[in-house]
Amino acid sequence: MSNPLHSLFLGPKGENEQLLKELLDSALQTHLHWRRTYHPEDPSPIAAGGSPTPAASAERVELRRHFASLLLQLQRSVPFFSGRYNGHMLSEQTIAGQAGYFAAMLYNPNNVSGEVAPVTTRLEEEVAHLLAEMIGYDPTRCWGHLTSGGTIANFEALWIARNVFYHPVAASLAARSLGVDVSVSLPDGSVAMLGELDLWPLLNIRPDSSLDLWEKLWLAAPRPAVENALRSHSLATLGYQDYNMQLAAEFGDPLPAGVVLAAGTAHYSWAKIVAALGVGSNQLVFVPVEAKCRMDPDALWREIESLTSRRIPIMACVSTCGTTEQGAVDDLQRILEVRARAERELGVTFHIHSDACYGGYAASLTRAPDGSRHTAARLREICGGAHWPTDQWARSIRALESADSVSIDPHKLGYVPYPAGAFLLKDRRGRELVATDPPYLALTTSRENGDAPVIGRFIFEGSKPGASTAATWLSHKTTPLNSAGHGRIIASTMKAARDLYALLGSSDFSPFRVIRVSQPDLNIVCFLLHHPSLDTLSALNALNETIYRELSPNAEMSAPYMITRTRLTSPAYDGAIRPLLSSLGKDGESYQKDIAEGLTVLRATVMNPFSVDANPDYLLGLTDAVRRAAISFLGESFGGRQLVREQANIQREVDVTEAGLFRVSRTGIQVGSDTGEKR
Ligand SMILES: *Cc1c(COP(=O)(O)O)cnc(C)c1O
Repeated sequence: MSNPLHSLFLGPKGENEQLLKELLDSALQTHLHWRRTYHPEDPSPIAAGGSPTPAASAERVELRRHFASLLLQLQRSVPFFSGRYNGHMLSEQTIAGQAGYFAAMLYNPNNVSGEVAPVTTRLEEEVAHLLAEMIGYDPTRCWGHLTSGGTIANFEALWIARNVFYHPVAASLAARSLGVDVSVSLPDGSVAMLGELDLWPLLNIRPDSSLDLWEKLWLAAPRPAVENALRSHSLATLGYQDYNMQLAAEFGDPLPAGVVLAAGTAHYSWAKIVAALGVGSNQLVFVPVEAKCRMDPDALWREIESLTSRRIPIMACVSTCGTTEQGAVDDLQRILEVRARAERELGVTFHIHSDACYGGYAASLTRAPDGSRHTAARLREICGGAHWPTDQWARSIRALESADSVSIDPHKLGYVPYPAGAFLLKDRRGRELVATDPPYLALTTSRENGDAPVIGRFIFEGSKPGASTAATWLSHKTTPLNSAGHGRIIASTMKAARDLYALLGSSDFSPFRVIRVSQPDLNIVCFLLHHPSLDTLSALNALNETIYRELSPNAEMSAPYMITRTRLTSPAYDGAIRPLLSSLGKDGESYQKDIAEGLTVLRATVMNPFSVDANPDYLLGLTDAVRRAAISFLGESFGGRQLVREQANIQREVDVTEAGLFRVSRTGIQVGSDTGEKR
């Protein structure tokens, strides 16, 4: 196999069947051995050798019948393994992920606690450690665990951020009730006594200073009394309504609603999360994006100034590393700098969370096998790009280490089976603010080699599969999270996406014109097709919706290629939409007035590990399929003589294509024999 990545996956034709079979078989064999050697003296309740009862036989027949039906139905699944699929954020899974999942699934461990998953809870700690190392968190200070996905990881981030944000208020009231006072560091570097602060400075304490208050109170008063006082004044105990009344009584000031800042590109999970946590969707404030769909740091600064002038505190700012729509990587370093400036100049601070659900694994590319960090120049060498990855990209990925929390989905660019998200918290003490003691789980289980973790105490979920932990663990152990391991998959798919981007730019789509959103920061390419006769934005959107319909999974899976589409909404995406429309010249100007409708763009997630340097060339095939899909729109929706004529011409070309005489190449459309060979 020429491409070393090819041995990591089962392969589109099941090329690595033997390896997977061997691994699954040894999982089953060792599992059987485990059962048989557990109290071997116990007799078997299932009579050996005897023939099954008629009822049991009938049940087996039923099982086989329904199983056959299940297997048949599953054949109608979406073929994520194929280079023809460039739709949502999923693709092949590593063989290690599949085998690890299957092996652990036989034991059915529940990673809520070491009591019911002594092995896989430890593996979960190890996985969290590997991910933390990859992004650059200090393993002695941080904490992390796996979740069912990014939504829950993001939820936990805001759950903790919110409780840390209100903690100084609870600490102040607790100190007052205990008759003590302690010092607290303010964001501008000065130190004050907690009892002197009114609500505004209490809601602008850095997360680490907020958490320090705990230990300070323990030193000032007996610990159980401190815990009780803190609990009785916490938002978690009182709920927003009573909390508000208490604050109005104690501070003569009701609680100003804290806001969460996020870019217009933020994943929709944030809308769910602010609603679920009682923060309220009115308090989710969108920061504009710039042309490359990254959060605009200058706009962020202006928003902070404006909120501060209205005395509205900021609970958290969510930055995205790999937006769901375009894979855009926010300039996190600059966002951190904006916060530092706000601390210095305005005395304002907040928690910064990086939603790296999609892009977090890009950090594996930035790590050398010895754990050190590659320079941007070295990254360009590794990726074979003259100008890519940029210094800014490298700096943005590196800045993950300075975010207060990070979410990363192993079930996306980690290439392992669902469900696997991850939540990482820089200062582990924050988890205590959401801890709940489950009455029926031992808080620690005594074991020879230390206590098995009770993950359930600190997380939102309860029961959760140890199997997905095993999958993630085995995959990352086999293919380490550095540039010589997992980073190769990331580099390869980023290259494929850039190839597709270039190909779209150089191909002839006439009578259409292709407009590309921006060079991909990761491996998602967004673009749209335009035709000069489309005089309204809704007609333009309809064209791209048609292309999407032609190129999306249907019941027969007959689409030649599969991509997705998304709507760039206004005003969230105005910073990106307006320049795109302007690039259309005077046509674009007429669309601007309908911008409230939003702009439909086609979206190709180039995650498949076999897309780069593939034979046949899937990127070329996809480009061709897009053009054909657009042509089918001509027949569907246009009147007008010119278009009919164009359509007739094109139809002729397409007919020729079907006869195998026509193809799109990287230098335009060529007529010739389509042997399926590489360009
Ligand atoms: C996918 C995604 C999420 C949500 O993750 P799930 O695993 O689907 O719950 C959150 N944020 C971003 C940026 C994502 O891409």
